[in-house]
Amino acid sequence: GEVLVEVNNLKKYFHIGKGAILKAVDDVSFIIRKGETLGMVGESGCGKTTCGRTVIGMYGATDGEVLFKGQNVHRMNAKQRKDFTKQAQIIFQDPYASLNPRMTVGDIIAEGIDIHGMYSGKERMNRVYELLGMVGLNKEHASRFPHEFSGGQRQRIGIARALAIEPEFIVCDEPISALDVSIQAQIVNLLIKFQRELGLTYLFIAHDLSMVKHISDRVAVMYLGCMVELAESHELYRNPLHPYTRALLSAIPIPDPEVERTRKRIMLEGEVPSPINPAPGCRFRARCPYAKPVCAEQTPPLKEIDKEHFVACHLY
Ligand code: SF4
Repeated sequence: GEVLVEVNNLKKYFHIGKGAILKAVDDVSFIIRKGETLGMVGESGCGKTTCGRTVIGMYGATDGEVLFKGQNVHRMNAKQRKDFTKQAQIIFQDPYASLNPRMTVGDIIAEGIDIHGMYSGKERMNRVYELLGMVGLNKEHASRFPHEFSGGQRQRIGIARALAIEPEFIVCDEPISALDVSIQAQIVNLLIKFQRELGLTYLFIAHDLSMVKHISDRVAVMYLGCMVELAESHELYRNPLHPYTRALLSAIPIPDPEVERTRKRIMLEGEVPSPINPAPGCRFRARCPYAKPVCAEQTPPLKEIDKEHFVACHLY
């Protein structure tokens, strides 16, 4: 398929004082094809949220580039930037924090419509009602305020706001992590439905592999600012190669109690090391049961081991 987003050697560092550098995203490359969902997973501090925000231009890049339809997201003039914000949107983890508590839901949803001068008056309200209906809410909700809604409903409002300006690409920044398990599937199904109906492209960020399984075409696994594995979804779940991916997968319970009972769970030893001033070599080595001397000396590059299956590990 056609490439919509291309990320080349992206780095995002934060200087956090006393000469310390937090390497939140450290030399990450990937593409996202038009109409697909790329899932991105990792523990907190792995850089996935920073990566998503840098891809969408909320953060500048320290080095490397992000191309959207071939155009560098961080080198746009005002007009190009406005055009880009109409095509690329973001949905946040905490829908409450991202919704202005003093604005009505109708005005929140219409924010982008107003900025881009898409509709006014009656047409504008009709579009708001249409969007509310699309996400499973109704007309009466337009005059209410965010605090009157549950977490799941707020995320529906966040989705309606993102869809209002008919974007092509949405960064879903942990959109279900803060929700009850019973609500998570509803939100994922809603996002899948819109993807099919509207031809959307997603970067879907989550902290565990079970959350991205049903929505992702391909999945990228992040660890301390680096991408350690990238593969088609079914391939990654069937044949995980990186020791970290294997550990993450083994932590997901299997519904079959017989399989669950006999299965060997891989326990990750040690604390998650810090992405501040990381030592050279593989960043997973302190927790890796297979670490060998070369792992301390050389950072393993992300290599294509099989068709569309990339892994960064000296075992391969
Ligand atoms: Fe483990 Fe070495 Fe592979 Fe890193 S490169 S995951 S330390 S085997």
